[in-house]
Amino acid sequence: MVQLTLSKSPEPRAPSQDESQPWRLAAEPWYDPTADEVTLFEQCHAQQLAVLLKGPTGCGKTRFVEHMAWRLDRPLITIACHDDLTASDLIGRFLIGHTGTHWVDGPLTRAVREGAICYLDEVVEARQDTIVVLHPLTDYRRILPLDKTGETLTASPHFQLVVSYNPGYQRMLKDLKPSTRQRFVALDFDFPPAERETLIVMRESGADHATAHALVSLCQRLRTLHDRGLAEVPSTRLLIATARLIVSGIAVQSACQAALISPLSDDPALVGAMRDLVALTFV
Ligand code: ADP
Repeated sequence: MVQLTLSKSPEPRAPSQDESQPWRLAAEPWYDPTADEVTLFEQCHAQQLAVLLKGPTGCGKTRFVEHMAWRLDRPLITIACHDDLTASDLIGRFLIGHTGTHWVDGPLTRAVREGAICYLDEVVEARQDTIVVLHPLTDYRRILPLDKTGETLTASPHFQLVVSYNPGYQRMLKDLKPSTRQRFVALDFDFPPAERETLIVMRESGADHATAHALVSLCQRLRTLHDRGLAEVPSTRLLIATARLIVSGIAVQSACQAALISPLSDDPALVGAMRDLVALTFV
């Protein structure tokens, strides 16, 4: 089944709000831009172009989409992709109820009808036959055939498809087919430079500058362990989690162990090297 996150405003944002589009972000998700990604995305939205966000896990892709949905005043429907995700999970299915069989839209169909931004996170995790469903939505046709009901939906002019993927992680395992990639405008994401990452950690965790700065320095050292076999380097998300634990009163060494080191590796040599770097950073 699909994992679906709908961002629902507790109250309508304005009395004139369209009742058919109740799924809105309630408040502005804070996002610190790196370059011209906000303008690029706005133009993609205006030009009805699908967008592919490329970058490592935890570097701000989801936050960016949330921010853009808020900025463009569109509902946001997020789908976490996985290898059991079927086309029916996206499109919809007939369900049997008390009064007989009735059709229930899947999240993609709902987004197409309602003019939402539909965000498929880690799209490469989905099976190829599921990904293919997206193709007619990503070219000039902007249609979604519902084979089971015999309908062909034309997407609302506000509908936008956004997918994310982590190229470094996927390269060895699976990759997006070139025929799929070519249907998207690709925006590259990466971890921010140290001073910006420090500010993000401060803002998101409430940590002071000295703590956030030390954590970011530590993280930059830990990221070099990629060359020594660390499969996934620590993300901004992990840094924020560590900083939150510290702010809540957990000792620095424990916070780093629980939120930074343990999630990254079980390998004793790598764990030892990471602990040494923590000790060097927080003397
Ligand atoms: P991804 O979708 O790339 O896996 P997220 O968007 O969930 O990563 O980012 C993880 C966290 O990092 C966010 O919840 C946010 O707190 C923080 N973050 C990363 N980059 C930024 C940024 N540029 N502006 C604001 N917050 C950011």
